[in-house]
Amino acid sequence: MLINIDELLAGEERELEFKENIEIPKVYSKFTSVPVVVKGKISKVGDDFRFEGNVSADLHLVCDSCLTEFSKTIDFPVFGIFKRETDDEEDYIISDNVIDLSSMVLTELLLNFPMRNICREDCKGLCIKCGHNLNISDCGCDRTVRNPEFEKLRSLFDQEV
Ligand SMILES: [Zn+2]
Ligand SMILES: [Zn+2]
Repeated sequence: MLINIDELLAGEERELEFKENIEIPKVYSKFTSVPVVVKGKISKVGDDFRFEGNVSADLHLVCDSCLTEFSKTIDFPVFGIFKRETDDEEDYIISDNVIDLSSMVLTELLLNFPMRNICREDCKGLCIKCGHNLNISDCGCDRTVRNPEFEKLRSLFDQEV
């Protein structure tokens, strides 16, 4: 995601589009290579450059509930100021007249990464007894969770009858 800014004049705006794979840390997903489409425009503001655009990322995820793999696309806006020199941690650095958008895109991707991954809203998850995927079919296990205190009461009633 490199932009050569040699020929970008003040006040000029350039439309850009990149399709690339971004590597994310394993803690986010076991699928570490994420295809992204970055669209936006770069412009020169004084001695600095600003990029404003949108990222669309095709995530490959594992459902937290039923452990099935599924895909999900997330979209989010990106914005960054690129400077030749800066002390501000919010800004990005330009090296050799080339702007590299990838660290900005990676930072924003991780910030927008879903905290909880569910394959579908009504995912039934796995059977707590046998581990069967309940979205496929019911395994027939008795999954009623009984409260032990309640069981004591019930046995008292049973004795009386
Ligand atoms: Zn699921
Ligand atoms: Zn079961």
